[in-house]
Amino acid sequence: MRGYMGKILRIDLTNEKIKVESLDQTIARSYVGGRGLGSYLAYREIAPKVDPFSPDSSIYFITGPLQGTLTPFTPKFVIINKSPLSGSLSRSVCGGGGFGPGLKYAGYDAVVIKGKAKKPVYVLIDDGKVEIKDAQKYWGMTTGETQSAIKKDLNDNSVSVIPIGPAGEKLVRFSGVIVSSRAAARGGTGAVMGSKHLKAIAVRGAKSVCVADIGQFRKLLEETYTTIRENPAVAKRIELGTPGTVAVSYSSGILPIMNFSRSTFEGIQGLMPEMVRDTLYIHNESCFGCPIPCGKLGFIKDGPYKGTVLPGPEYETIGLLGSNCGISDIRAVAQANYLCNEYGMDTISTGSVIAFVMECYQRGLITDKDTDDMKLKFGDPEIVMTLIEKIAHREGFGNLLAEGTKRVSEVIGQDSHKFAMHSKGQDFAAYDPRALVGMGLMYATATPGANHSFGPTLTAERVGLKDMLTHKEKGKLNRKEQNKYCLQDSMIFCSFSRFGMDERQQLRFTNAVTGWNYSDEEATLIADRIYTLERLFNVREGFSKADDNLPWRCLNEPLPDGPAKGNTVPLDRMLKDYYEERGWNQDSGMPDQETIERLGLSDLVSEYR
Ligand code: SF4
Repeated sequence: MRGYMGKILRIDLTNEKIKVESLDQTIARSYVGGRGLGSYLAYREIAPKVDPFSPDSSIYFITGPLQGTLTPFTPKFVIINKSPLSGSLSRSVCGGGGFGPGLKYAGYDAVVIKGKAKKPVYVLIDDGKVEIKDAQKYWGMTTGETQSAIKKDLNDNSVSVIPIGPAGEKLVRFSGVIVSSRAAARGGTGAVMGSKHLKAIAVRGAKSVCVADIGQFRKLLEETYTTIRENPAVAKRIELGTPGTVAVSYSSGILPIMNFSRSTFEGIQGLMPEMVRDTLYIHNESCFGCPIPCGKLGFIKDGPYKGTVLPGPEYETIGLLGSNCGISDIRAVAQANYLCNEYGMDTISTGSVIAFVMECYQRGLITDKDTDDMKLKFGDPEIVMTLIEKIAHREGFGNLLAEGTKRVSEVIGQDSHKFAMHSKGQDFAAYDPRALVGMGLMYATATPGANHSFGPTLTAERVGLKDMLTHKEKGKLNRKEQNKYCLQDSMIFCSFSRFGMDERQQLRFTNAVTGWNYSDEEATLIADRIYTLERLFNVREGFSKADDNLPWRCLNEPLPDGPAKGNTVPLDRMLKDYYEERGWNQDSGMPDQETIERLGLSDLVSEYR
């Protein structure tokens, strides 16, 4: 099998059994790798209604055919698990530390971990040899400390380590894996690892990945590097990174302000891209082998957080821990980002739950008695820092917040669900759907809930349709964008590969590496198959059309100001078009039998009901 190592590593931590099985060629061709392969395995192996923290639930670390080939924009790997936030299937993608290519070089396409170790452990995959090692001395360490300590103990700075922090150990539902400043955190990956007493996985190896058509591969490389050199947007992306999006997002009314209650913010100048660049950046950083170093290393030069060295912050973090909490000092956002990274928490859900309780406090739904005597005011950086510490350690009020916005709103009650900004329990990213309604449909229908990276519509709506405020064409657009991301996550290209190639070029690379000659039609069929299979996983868990929903605020409370003033999200109308596009039932949201058969899923569905 060109592009693949042909092996899946399976580890049961309960009885310390290690097994290697062959990767089935037909399955690899039908699901490609990454998200597709992981969703297929999870559908077969995670029993319906199993608790995400149960030893019986598995977590999947998966590569695709391109990792390790030096195809541009492919340093990433995918984690698939059942989300402790939403109970749905979840996928996270991470490019840090070279783990994706490293796993291939160590000899495996995927690692599947189930069970629960008696005491903290980490897994070392060393050029094919696998060990379950004692990790008691690392338990309690931050993500940065864990990476350094394991590298030091192995006497190898080049080993790739993906760790969790204290938040994952404490089962904070939005904790994740943070590696070399990059996060795979949105689906509670850290908590699932913590529930298994799994502190980290470390990989190294010297095997190579075979490419089917090396001549074509070289030609594609030349084309792609030429495109990157000639694309004027690349220099801007390298200069500003993802924070460059803040300006366009704010001017379109999309950036969330104070728990998505408005679109204008007096402190916005403090968060603008040039301010972020001039205040923080010291140099650019890239993921393993990437030609566009969009990451930033920052340094806080003055003020109360002086001396902190940190990666980022990225756009989503500025939106959620900055404007959404009313914070206008980028140094405070950076410090909050640093704490979340070290404790191992998703900055999006952390900012979202903090902004939510700030609004609850402002409305008098909770008081000092509930908040450990803290006065939760929007715009107070110290409150944000204190809450992050408390959440990470599940201390006092932080123990409740560690459950995530949906569960917190259920405890607070008093109609607070109306402004709890999540879908299926997954917090909104930094896009207010009232100013970008296609994104609202994406939040409502994405497999794990409101995850921005399941087919964001920002570029297509702004540049292509130029219509961000109505239902028109959003059903079709969402299927197209979701499918694009589905394939991208299965071949495992970074979503910023758009700066150097389009979907066709991605497919050409995959064909050159695997020799499979996927046609455009087959690629669309595979994307539909994977997305529908994820849907079927959720249906088996009890999800239905009622869960393809948005908070009351988005549907009933028009934006009070900004460019989208007066707009709400026309969700019902968009859902109708979307279900039609997908071949899903209009009343239940369940894939039609005809769709299941067309996508070749009938046998799988009848065998694993
Ligand atoms: S474009 Fe940025 S995020 Fe994507 S692989 Fe390159 S450095 Fe990493």
